[in-house]
Amino acid sequence: MLIEHIDRQLLELDAAALRRRLRVAESPCAPVQSFESEQGSEPLLAFCSNDYLGLAHHPALIDAMAEGAQHWGTGSGASHLVSGHMRPHVQVEELVARWFEPHIPHARAVLMCSGYMANLALTTALGDGDATLFCDKLNHASLIDGARLAQAQVQRYAHGRLDVLERQLQSCTTPVKLIVTDAVFSMDGDVADLPTLLALAEQYDAWIVLDDAHGLGVLGDQGHGTLEHFRLRSKRFIVMGTLGKAAGVSGAFVAAHPTIIEWLVQRARPYIYTTAMPPALAHTVLASLQLIESEEGRTRRAQLQGLVEQLRMGLKALAGIQSSWLLSESFTAIQPLIVGDNDIALKLSAALRHRGLYVPAMRPPTVPVGTARLRITLSAAHTSVQVQSLLDALAQAMGELQ
Ligand SMILES: *Cc1c(COP(=O)(O)O)cnc(C)c1O
Repeated sequence: MLIEHIDRQLLELDAAALRRRLRVAESPCAPVQSFESEQGSEPLLAFCSNDYLGLAHHPALIDAMAEGAQHWGTGSGASHLVSGHMRPHVQVEELVARWFEPHIPHARAVLMCSGYMANLALTTALGDGDATLFCDKLNHASLIDGARLAQAQVQRYAHGRLDVLERQLQSCTTPVKLIVTDAVFSMDGDVADLPTLLALAEQYDAWIVLDDAHGLGVLGDQGHGTLEHFRLRSKRFIVMGTLGKAAGVSGAFVAAHPTIIEWLVQRARPYIYTTAMPPALAHTVLASLQLIESEEGRTRRAQLQGLVEQLRMGLKALAGIQSSWLLSESFTAIQPLIVGDNDIALKLSAALRHRGLYVPAMRPPTVPVGTARLRITLSAAHTSVQVQSLLDALAQAMGELQ
Protein backbone atom coordinates (compact mmCIF):
# COMPACT_ATOMS: atom_id res chain seq x y z
CA MET A 1 0.00 0.00 0.00
CA LEU A 2 2.70 2.47 0.96
CA ILE A 3 4.78 1.68 -2.12
CA GLU A 4 1.76 2.03 -4.44
CA HIS A 5 0.85 5.28 -2.70
CA ILE A 6 4.32 6.70 -3.32
CA ASP A 7 4.59 5.30 -6.85
CA ARG A 8 1.40 7.11 -7.81
CA GLN A 9 2.85 10.38 -6.59
CA LEU A 10 6.14 9.78 -8.35
CA LEU A 11 4.24 9.30 -11.61
CA GLU A 12 2.51 12.62 -11.03
CA LEU A 13 5.92 14.27 -10.59
CA ASP A 14 7.06 12.72 -13.86
CA ALA A 15 3.94 13.95 -15.65
CA ALA A 16 4.50 17.50 -14.40
CA ALA A 17 8.22 17.40 -15.31
CA LEU A 18 8.99 17.92 -11.62
CA ARG A 19 10.90 14.72 -10.89
CA ARG A 20 14.39 15.52 -9.57
CA ARG A 21 17.48 13.44 -10.29
CA LEU A 22 20.57 12.92 -8.18
CA ARG A 23 23.83 13.41 -10.06
CA VAL A 24 27.01 11.81 -8.87
CA ALA A 25 30.01 14.15 -8.89
CA GLU A 26 33.25 12.34 -9.68
CA SER A 27 35.59 15.22 -8.84
CA PRO A 28 35.81 17.98 -6.19
CA CYS A 29 33.60 21.05 -6.22
CA ALA A 30 35.20 23.41 -8.78
CA PRO A 31 34.17 25.45 -11.86
CA VAL A 32 34.94 22.44 -14.04
CA GLN A 33 33.55 19.38 -12.31
CA SER A 34 33.08 15.81 -13.55
CA PHE A 35 29.76 14.05 -13.20
CA GLU A 36 28.84 10.44 -13.76
CA SER A 37 27.56 9.85 -17.30
CA GLU A 38 26.86 6.96 -19.65
CA GLN A 39 30.42 7.24 -20.97
CA GLY A 40 31.78 7.05 -17.42
CA SER A 41 32.48 10.59 -16.39
CA GLU A 42 31.85 13.89 -18.11
CA PRO A 43 33.50 17.22 -17.20
CA LEU A 44 31.06 20.12 -17.09
CA LEU A 45 31.57 23.85 -16.72
CA ALA A 46 29.36 24.32 -13.69
CA PHE A 47 27.51 27.43 -12.49
CA CYS A 48 25.58 25.85 -9.67
CA SER A 49 27.54 25.60 -6.45
CA ASN A 50 27.41 27.93 -3.45
CA ASP A 51 31.19 27.79 -3.16
CA TYR A 52 31.23 31.53 -3.86
CA LEU A 53 34.88 32.15 -3.01
CA GLY A 54 36.23 28.90 -4.45
CA LEU A 55 37.39 27.70 -1.03
CA ALA A 56 35.89 24.18 -1.09
CA HIS A 57 39.13 22.72 -2.47
CA HIS A 58 41.60 25.37 -1.30
CA PRO A 59 45.04 23.88 -0.44
CA ALA A 60 45.28 25.74 2.89
CA LEU A 61 41.92 24.36 3.99
CA ILE A 62 42.78 20.84 2.83
CA ASP A 63 45.92 21.08 4.99
CA ALA A 64 43.86 22.38 7.91
CA MET A 65 41.44 19.46 7.61
CA ALA A 66 44.32 16.93 7.62
CA GLU A 67 46.03 18.68 10.52
CA GLY A 68 42.75 18.87 12.44
CA ALA A 69 42.15 15.15 11.96
CA GLN A 70 45.72 14.29 13.04
CA HIS A 71 45.35 16.32 16.19
CA TRP A 72 41.70 15.78 17.11
CA GLY A 73 40.68 12.55 15.40
CA THR A 74 37.60 12.13 13.28
CA GLY A 75 34.63 12.43 15.60
CA SER A 76 33.60 14.59 18.56
CA GLY A 77 32.07 11.52 20.22
CA ALA A 78 29.16 13.27 21.90
CA SER A 79 26.84 16.24 21.86
CA HIS A 80 28.09 19.64 23.04
CA LEU A 81 26.52 19.45 26.51
CA VAL A 82 28.07 16.04 27.21
CA SER A 83 31.72 15.91 26.08
CA GLY A 84 31.70 16.90 22.40
CA HIS A 85 32.40 20.60 22.97
CA MET A 86 36.07 20.92 22.04
CA ARG A 87 38.67 23.68 21.78
CA PRO A 88 38.31 24.10 17.96
CA HIS A 89 34.55 24.71 18.37
CA VAL A 90 35.29 27.38 20.97
CA GLN A 91 37.91 28.99 18.73
CA VAL A 92 35.36 29.32 15.92
CA GLU A 93 32.76 30.74 18.31
CA GLU A 94 35.23 33.30 19.61
CA LEU A 95 36.25 34.39 16.13
CA VAL A 96 32.64 34.69 14.98
CA ALA A 97 31.79 36.71 18.10
CA ARG A 98 34.66 39.07 17.23
CA TRP A 99 33.34 39.40 13.65
CA PHE A 100 29.92 40.44 14.90
CA GLU A 101 30.94 42.65 17.82
CA PRO A 102 30.87 45.77 15.54
CA HIS A 103 27.28 44.89 14.54
CA ILE A 104 25.80 43.34 17.68
CA PRO A 105 26.97 44.81 21.01
CA HIS A 106 28.56 42.13 23.28
CA ALA A 107 27.99 39.52 20.54
CA ARG A 108 28.41 35.88 21.47
CA ALA A 109 28.25 32.95 19.03
CA VAL A 110 27.36 29.27 19.02
CA LEU A 111 28.41 26.71 16.42
CA MET A 112 25.86 24.29 14.94
CA CYS A 113 26.07 21.33 12.56
CA SER A 114 24.20 22.89 9.65
CA GLY A 115 22.25 25.97 8.65
CA TYR A 116 19.09 23.91 8.45
CA MET A 117 19.51 22.86 12.08
CA ALA A 118 20.52 26.36 13.18
CA ASN A 119 17.31 27.79 11.71
CA LEU A 120 15.19 25.11 13.40
CA ALA A 121 17.06 25.86 16.63
CA LEU A 122 16.43 29.60 16.40
CA THR A 123 12.79 29.51 15.42
CA THR A 124 11.79 26.84 17.95
CA ALA A 125 13.83 28.09 20.92
CA LEU A 126 12.89 31.76 20.47
CA GLY A 127 9.46 31.27 18.92
CA ASP A 128 7.59 30.12 22.03
CA GLY A 129 3.91 30.67 22.84
CA ASP A 130 4.59 34.32 23.73
CA ALA A 131 6.02 35.12 20.31
CA THR A 132 4.93 35.96 16.78
CA LEU A 133 7.23 35.19 13.86
CA PHE A 134 6.97 37.56 10.87
CA CYS A 135 8.32 35.75 7.82
CA ASP A 136 9.10 36.88 4.28
CA LYS A 137 7.32 34.49 1.92
CA LEU A 138 10.52 33.78 -0.02
CA ASN A 139 12.45 32.68 3.06
CA HIS A 140 14.57 29.54 2.80
CA ALA A 141 12.81 26.21 3.38
CA SER A 142 14.64 25.74 6.69
CA LEU A 143 13.09 28.93 8.09
CA ILE A 144 9.67 27.90 6.80
CA ASP A 145 10.01 24.47 8.44
CA GLY A 146 11.29 26.12 11.62
CA ALA A 147 8.26 28.41 11.72
CA ARG A 148 5.99 25.37 11.32
CA LEU A 149 7.65 23.62 14.26
CA ALA A 150 7.61 26.67 16.53
CA GLN A 151 4.88 27.22 19.14
CA ALA A 152 4.73 30.88 18.09
CA GLN A 153 2.08 32.48 15.92
CA VAL A 154 3.26 32.96 12.35
CA GLN A 155 2.51 35.84 10.00
CA ARG A 156 3.85 35.84 6.47
CA TYR A 157 4.33 38.90 4.28
CA ALA A 158 4.79 39.02 0.50
CA HIS A 159 8.44 39.18 -0.51
CA GLY A 160 9.98 42.51 0.49
CA ARG A 161 6.60 44.10 1.34
CA LEU A 162 7.72 45.90 4.47
CA ASP A 163 4.53 48.00 4.39
CA VAL A 164 2.58 44.78 4.95
CA LEU A 165 5.04 43.75 7.65
CA GLU A 166 4.51 47.09 9.38
CA ARG A 167 0.74 46.60 9.50
CA GLN A 168 1.27 43.12 10.93
CA LEU A 169 3.62 44.50 13.59
CA GLN A 170 1.14 47.26 14.44
CA SER A 171 -1.68 44.84 15.15
CA CYS A 172 0.46 42.24 16.93
CA THR A 173 -0.35 41.68 20.60
CA THR A 174 2.21 39.04 21.66
CA PRO A 175 5.03 40.34 23.90
CA VAL A 176 7.80 38.90 21.69
CA LYS A 177 8.06 39.82 18.01
CA LEU A 178 10.62 38.21 15.71
CA ILE A 179 11.10 39.29 12.10
CA VAL A 180 12.57 36.30 10.27
CA THR A 181 14.23 36.86 6.90
CA ASP A 182 16.91 35.74 4.49
CA ALA A 183 19.54 38.49 4.18
CA VAL A 184 20.33 37.47 0.59
CA PHE A 185 17.41 35.52 -0.90
CA SER A 186 18.61 32.15 -2.12
CA MET A 187 16.68 31.89 -5.40
CA ASP A 188 16.75 35.58 -6.43
CA GLY A 189 20.00 36.88 -5.00
CA ASP A 190 18.39 40.14 -3.90
CA VAL A 191 19.24 41.64 -0.52
CA ALA A 192 16.70 42.40 2.23
CA ASP A 193 16.26 46.09 3.06
CA LEU A 194 17.96 45.83 6.43
CA PRO A 195 18.03 49.55 7.30
CA THR A 196 14.23 49.71 6.99
CA LEU A 197 13.79 46.39 8.80
CA LEU A 198 15.90 47.71 11.68
CA ALA A 199 13.89 50.94 11.85
CA LEU A 200 10.68 48.87 12.03
CA ALA A 201 12.17 46.59 14.67
CA GLU A 202 13.08 49.59 16.80
CA GLN A 203 9.71 51.23 16.36
CA TYR A 204 7.75 48.08 17.25
CA ASP A 205 10.23 46.52 19.68
CA ALA A 206 10.87 43.52 17.44
CA TRP A 207 14.00 41.39 16.89
CA ILE A 208 15.45 40.34 13.54
CA VAL A 209 16.49 36.76 12.78
CA LEU A 210 18.75 37.21 9.79
CA ASP A 211 19.78 34.22 7.67
CA ASP A 212 23.02 35.28 6.00
CA ALA A 213 23.75 31.98 4.23
CA HIS A 214 24.56 33.78 0.97
CA GLY A 215 26.01 37.04 2.30
CA LEU A 216 28.65 35.65 4.62
CA GLY A 217 32.07 35.69 2.96
CA VAL A 218 30.68 37.52 -0.06
CA LEU A 219 29.44 40.88 1.24
CA GLY A 220 31.30 43.46 3.29
CA ASP A 221 34.90 44.57 2.95
CA GLN A 222 36.08 41.81 5.30
CA GLY A 223 33.47 39.31 4.16
CA HIS A 224 31.57 39.48 7.44
CA GLY A 225 28.33 39.57 5.47
CA THR A 226 25.23 41.64 4.99
CA LEU A 227 25.45 43.55 8.29
CA GLU A 228 28.94 44.69 7.36
CA HIS A 229 27.68 45.67 3.90
CA PHE A 230 25.03 47.94 5.46
CA ARG A 231 27.27 48.97 8.39
CA LEU A 232 24.46 48.39 10.86
CA ARG A 233 24.72 47.83 14.61
CA SER A 234 21.97 46.76 16.95
CA LYS A 235 21.33 44.31 19.77
CA ARG A 236 18.21 43.35 17.79
CA PHE A 237 20.11 41.32 15.17
CA ILE A 238 20.25 37.54 15.57
CA VAL A 239 22.44 36.33 12.70
CA MET A 240 22.67 32.82 11.31
CA GLY A 241 25.63 32.16 9.00
CA THR A 242 26.36 28.93 7.13
CA LEU A 243 29.83 27.48 6.73
CA GLY A 244 29.17 25.18 3.77
CA LYS A 245 28.75 27.94 1.19
CA ALA A 246 31.32 30.71 0.80
CA ALA A 247 33.33 29.25 3.70
CA GLY A 248 33.71 26.01 1.72
CA VAL A 249 33.41 23.61 4.67
CA SER A 250 30.21 22.69 6.54
CA GLY A 251 28.22 23.78 9.58
CA ALA A 252 26.68 27.03 10.74
CA PHE A 253 26.67 29.52 13.59
CA VAL A 254 24.34 31.89 15.35
CA ALA A 255 25.71 35.23 16.57
CA ALA A 256 23.56 37.34 18.89
CA HIS A 257 23.16 38.97 22.30
CA PRO A 258 24.74 36.67 24.92
CA THR A 259 21.41 35.93 26.62
CA ILE A 260 19.97 34.66 23.34
CA ILE A 261 22.97 32.39 22.76
CA GLU A 262 22.73 31.07 26.32
CA TRP A 263 19.05 30.25 25.73
CA LEU A 264 19.89 28.33 22.54
CA VAL A 265 22.44 26.26 24.47
CA GLN A 266 19.84 25.54 27.18
CA ARG A 267 16.81 24.95 24.99
CA ALA A 268 17.46 24.49 21.26
CA ARG A 269 16.82 20.81 20.57
CA PRO A 270 18.64 20.74 17.18
CA TYR A 271 21.72 21.94 19.11
CA ILE A 272 21.37 19.78 22.20
CA TYR A 273 20.33 16.43 20.74
CA THR A 274 22.93 15.95 18.05
CA THR A 275 26.60 15.00 17.93
CA ALA A 276 28.88 18.02 17.86
CA MET A 277 30.56 18.82 14.54
CA PRO A 278 33.80 16.83 14.07
CA PRO A 279 36.59 18.90 15.65
CA ALA A 280 38.68 18.58 12.48
CA LEU A 281 35.89 20.36 10.62
CA ALA A 282 35.78 23.12 13.22
CA HIS A 283 39.55 23.47 12.88
CA THR A 284 39.08 23.80 9.10
CA VAL A 285 36.29 26.34 9.54
CA LEU A 286 38.63 28.45 11.67
CA ALA A 287 41.20 28.46 8.85
CA SER A 288 38.48 29.34 6.36
CA LEU A 289 37.17 32.28 8.36
CA GLN A 290 40.71 33.60 8.76
CA LEU A 291 41.20 33.31 5.01
CA ILE A 292 37.90 35.08 4.30
CA GLU A 293 38.91 38.21 6.22
CA SER A 294 42.49 38.19 4.89
CA GLU A 295 43.87 40.06 1.88
CA GLU A 296 43.34 36.90 -0.18
CA GLY A 297 39.69 36.87 0.80
CA ARG A 298 39.37 40.49 -0.30
CA THR A 299 40.99 39.67 -3.66
CA ARG A 300 38.58 36.77 -4.15
CA ARG A 301 35.57 38.99 -3.38
CA ALA A 302 36.79 41.55 -5.92
CA GLN A 303 37.23 38.82 -8.55
CA LEU A 304 33.70 37.57 -7.84
CA GLN A 305 32.26 41.08 -8.09
CA GLY A 306 33.92 41.60 -11.49
CA LEU A 307 32.41 38.35 -12.79
CA VAL A 308 28.97 39.30 -11.46
CA GLU A 309 29.10 42.58 -13.41
CA GLN A 310 30.27 40.84 -16.58
CA LEU A 311 27.50 38.24 -16.34
CA ARG A 312 24.79 40.81 -15.65
CA MET A 313 25.78 42.91 -18.65
CA GLY A 314 25.56 39.84 -20.87
CA LEU A 315 22.29 38.62 -19.37
CA LYS A 316 20.72 42.07 -19.77
CA ALA A 317 21.48 41.94 -23.48
CA LEU A 318 19.87 38.48 -23.75
CA ALA A 319 16.80 39.51 -21.77
CA GLY A 320 16.53 42.50 -24.10
CA ILE A 321 16.04 40.10 -26.99
CA GLN A 322 13.66 37.75 -25.17
CA SER A 323 11.47 40.30 -23.45
CA SER A 324 9.50 37.83 -21.30
CA TRP A 325 12.70 36.84 -19.49
CA LEU A 326 13.64 38.67 -16.35
CA LEU A 327 16.77 39.25 -14.33
CA SER A 328 16.70 39.78 -10.60
CA GLU A 329 17.80 42.97 -8.80
CA SER A 330 20.87 41.15 -7.55
CA PHE A 331 24.46 42.26 -7.08
CA THR A 332 25.38 39.02 -5.33
CA ALA A 333 26.78 35.74 -6.65
CA ILE A 334 23.24 34.44 -7.26
CA GLN A 335 22.02 35.56 -10.70
CA PRO A 336 18.79 33.92 -11.84
CA LEU A 337 17.50 34.10 -15.41
CA ILE A 338 13.74 33.92 -14.87
CA VAL A 339 12.00 32.38 -17.89
CA GLY A 340 8.63 31.58 -16.23
CA ASP A 341 7.68 28.29 -17.84
CA ASN A 342 8.95 25.02 -16.28
CA ASP A 343 9.45 23.39 -19.62
CA ILE A 344 11.48 26.26 -21.09
CA ALA A 345 13.70 26.33 -18.01
CA LEU A 346 14.32 22.60 -18.41
CA LYS A 347 14.97 22.90 -22.13
CA LEU A 348 17.47 25.70 -21.62
CA SER A 349 19.26 23.76 -18.92
CA ALA A 350 19.34 20.68 -21.21
CA ALA A 351 20.65 22.72 -24.16
CA LEU A 352 23.46 24.07 -21.97
CA ARG A 353 24.20 20.59 -20.71
CA HIS A 354 24.47 19.46 -24.31
CA ARG A 355 27.21 22.09 -24.73
CA GLY A 356 29.08 20.91 -21.66
CA LEU A 357 27.69 23.44 -19.18
CA TYR A 358 25.77 22.74 -16.01
CA VAL A 359 23.25 25.38 -14.89
CA PRO A 360 20.33 23.95 -12.90
CA ALA A 361 16.71 24.75 -13.72
CA MET A 362 14.77 25.71 -10.59
CA ARG A 363 11.08 24.93 -10.63
CA PRO A 364 8.18 24.94 -8.19
CA PRO A 365 7.99 24.19 -5.31
CA THR A 366 11.53 25.55 -4.89
CA VAL A 367 10.41 28.80 -6.57
CA PRO A 368 6.88 30.26 -6.94
CA VAL A 369 4.68 28.91 -9.75
CA GLY A 370 5.32 30.75 -13.03
CA THR A 371 8.85 31.83 -12.11
CA ALA A 372 10.90 28.83 -13.25
CA ARG A 373 14.45 29.88 -13.88
CA LEU A 374 18.04 29.05 -14.49
CA ARG A 375 19.80 29.68 -11.20
CA ILE A 376 23.26 30.79 -12.20
CA THR A 377 25.77 31.07 -9.36
CA LEU A 378 29.26 32.43 -9.73
CA SER A 379 32.43 31.71 -7.83
CA ALA A 380 35.69 33.60 -7.50
CA ALA A 381 37.24 30.45 -8.96
CA HIS A 382 35.49 31.09 -12.30
CA THR A 383 37.38 33.02 -15.00
CA SER A 384 35.91 35.73 -17.21
CA VAL A 385 36.51 33.42 -20.20
CA GLN A 386 34.24 30.86 -18.54
CA VAL A 387 31.55 33.47 -17.93
CA GLN A 388 31.76 34.47 -21.60
CA SER A 389 31.37 30.79 -22.55
CA LEU A 390 28.17 30.69 -20.52
CA LEU A 391 26.81 33.81 -22.24
CA ASP A 392 27.67 32.44 -25.70
CA ALA A 393 26.07 29.08 -24.94
CA LEU A 394 22.95 30.79 -23.60
CA ALA A 395 22.62 32.86 -26.77
CA GLN A 396 22.89 29.70 -28.89
CA ALA A 397 20.42 27.80 -26.69
CA MET A 398 17.96 30.69 -27.00
CA GLY A 399 18.24 30.51 -30.77
CA GLU A 400 17.34 26.81 -30.68
CA LEU A 401 14.19 27.49 -28.64
CA GLN A 402 12.76 29.93 -31.18
C1 LIG B 1 21.72 26.67 2.36
C2 LIG B 1 20.83 27.51 3.20
C3 LIG B 1 20.52 27.13 4.50
C4 LIG B 1 20.91 25.80 5.06
O1 LIG B 1 22.25 25.77 5.37
P1 LIG B 1 23.01 24.36 5.41
O2 LIG B 1 24.23 24.64 6.19
O3 LIG B 1 23.26 23.98 3.99
O4 LIG B 1 22.09 23.40 6.10
C5 LIG B 1 19.78 28.00 5.26
N1 LIG B 1 19.34 29.18 4.75
C6 LIG B 1 19.61 29.56 3.50
C7 LIG B 1 19.12 30.88 3.00
C8 LIG B 1 20.36 28.73 2.68
O5 LIG B 1 20.61 29.09 1.43
